[in-house]
Amino acid sequence: MPTDIDALRLLLREFVQEREWERFHEPKDLALAISIESGELSEHFLWKSIDEARDYVKKEGNAAKIVEEIADVMIYSLNLVNALERITGKPIDVGNAIYEKIEKNAKKYPATLYKNKARLDKP
Ligand SMILES: [Mg+2]
Repeated sequence: MPTDIDALRLLLREFVQEREWERFHEPKDLALAISIESGELSEHFLWKSIDEARDYVKKEGNAAKIVEEIADVMIYSLNLVNALERITGKPIDVGNAIYEKIEKNAKKYPATLYKNKARLDKP
């Protein structure tokens, strides 16, 4: 089973091509699908307190259901990358984009300033 992000993206490209679904995979619809799946993910936590949400996560089978929604979000995200690549005709290295974003965030939120802080207090 491939776990490398590009291998997963290629697997999804084949999945879509085999079904001739490219015509349905417009960036607009894939962006909406990501949002909808993100909503399904959020639904697991809606109206629960922090403690209730933690109890829900610990309950047998619920973490797997949440991970399934995370997988849906990631699948549609990779399908969107494939659609962007297909439409622009330019290769996209999404793995590298993630690395670059992590590096950018590391510079934006240096550990020396942000350790144990979600935000800095304004002067
Ligand atoms: Mg779903």
